[in-house]
Amino acid sequence: MNPAFSVCVYCGSRPGLNPEFATAAQEVGSWIGEHGGQLVYGGGRGGLMGVVADATLRAGGRVVGVIPKALVEKECAHRDCTELHIVDTMHDRKGMMAERADTFLALPGGIGTFEELFEVWTWRQLGYHDKPIGLLNTAGYYDKLLGFLKASVEQQFLGDWQMDLIRSDTDPVSLLKKLVEAAVLSTKPRLDEI
Ligand code: AMP
Repeated sequence: MNPAFSVCVYCGSRPGLNPEFATAAQEVGSWIGEHGGQLVYGGGRGGLMGVVADATLRAGGRVVGVIPKALVEKECAHRDCTELHIVDTMHDRKGMMAERADTFLALPGGIGTFEELFEVWTWRQLGYHDKPIGLLNTAGYYDKLLGFLKASVEQQFLGDWQMDLIRSDTDPVSLLKKLVEAAVLSTKPRLDEI
């Protein structure tokens, strides 16, 4: 059966210091599974990535992992994914993750998460896709980033309309609801041309 919706989650391959991060990742996975959804993610089993994937599976959801072969060789892959795609390059991975998603959600994470978030945000502002993007600001983790982005608007390197392309929230369920609702309403154009 086709999933009701598909959420691409970007998040840390480490758990981070604050236990609230794992709790939030768990809530995200459980909500996706309980609502008949599908998780698309980087296919790893470590850190918050493993937490969100396991929670989705436990709640009966589908999990699509997309991982480059170099990371599989380091034994990072989560073998219990409903679908595990082993691709040649990082570019292939990011393209497939974006293609399979109706919406994107970044949880707390490190440089990999930042890069993924900024990439889909850039693609969105250029009109390559029209999929909603969310930033889960658990325990104020992204406060300083949001402050910096506000400063970029003040310095006129960013426009308010660009900031409006990202929804940030501290509550996982309320953010997921908004993203999925917006995704269902959108036309979901394909990312083939990127
Ligand atoms: P980071 O936030 O630096 O821990 O990177 C996590 C993000 O980058 C995830 O959303 C993944 O898509 C990707 N990534 C980084 N490290 C790994 C790994 N060991 N296994 C799978 N994906 C990873």
